[in-house]
Amino acid sequence: MKRVLITGAAGFLGSHLCDRFIKEGYKVVGMDNLITGDLKNIEHLFKLENFEFYHHDVSKFVFVPGDLDYILHFASPASPIDYLKIPIQTLKVGSLGTHNLLGLAKAKKACMLIASTSEVYGDPNVHPQPETYWGNVNPVGPRGVYDEAKRFQEAITMAYHTFHGVDTKIVRIFNTYGPRMRLNDGRVLPAFIGQALRGEDLTIFGDGSQTRSFCYVDDLVEGIYRLLLSDYHQPVNIGNPSEITISQFAEEIIKLTGTNQKVIYKDLPVDDPKQRQPDITRAREILNWEPKVSREEGLKITYDYFRSLSQEELYKSKHRFE
Ligand code: UDP
Repeated sequence: MKRVLITGAAGFLGSHLCDRFIKEGYKVVGMDNLITGDLKNIEHLFKLENFEFYHHDVSKFVFVPGDLDYILHFASPASPIDYLKIPIQTLKVGSLGTHNLLGLAKAKKACMLIASTSEVYGDPNVHPQPETYWGNVNPVGPRGVYDEAKRFQEAITMAYHTFHGVDTKIVRIFNTYGPRMRLNDGRVLPAFIGQALRGEDLTIFGDGSQTRSFCYVDDLVEGIYRLLLSDYHQPVNIGNPSEITISQFAEEIIKLTGTNQKVIYKDLPVDDPKQRQPDITRAREILNWEPKVSREEGLKITYDYFRSLSQEELYKSKHRFE
């Protein structure tokens, strides 16, 4: 039986990965410092024999007894509002955390997959974004702490691969959504659905002409699973190329939720990328992967999840660090 360590296990993506690896018959070791993660996302796994959990910050030395076959590094604040509130932790988990886990991978002879991001492309001048594009990132802007941590993460991961021969994989994740996103994490989908459920107006930042491309979480997990088992070491974009403006997205959420509220406009955050769409040619060719879940289908499942949350959850502080 193979054994996998998943960092950020109590987060949105980490918890879905835990589920997938349990389903595939792996022993899963989850690790999280619970700054942005929530044990509720994995509480159903605690009763399983093949699941164990460490409450630990991977920016500090990581000790895991026993063999490890795979390490998936998904610990990081991942929403713009989070990394504005906890910039140093964001930098540390991407840099020091990745270094610690690469050391662990080397010691255990494990294969290591890192969660990189479309943010490595910054506010892109090339559209859609292929992996060969080097990006347009402001290192000292508010997003720099995340973007540069992730760019460093890619660099050190590649160095461990070429210099130490560690088997490494790099996935560049584009906007992903689904159940277990945090209602108060500030990202556009939970923000809009939360506002609709509370009877508030939907807040569009800027004029709403900026674009994003949203991938349903199950599609993303499938892509990551295929990449991990491949022998490909260069970065691979995983995302859904179906691109939409934020204004159109607000309209879709209004239709889905049936809210009578209107949209209101707020200032666009600094360095907010104007457009984003993955070029997934590489994932198609190397992993034979492409997304299967339409936005209509995925949004319905996600809305049902948010509707099932308690009133307390819905109304509690809009942001955890406020
Ligand atoms: N956004 C918005 N209203 C909100 C939250 C976000 O208009 O209440 C916009 C945000 O400015 C960005 C897009 O939606 O242009 C996606 O933002 P998100 O925070 O989800 O992630 P990003 O793709 O920017 O990392």
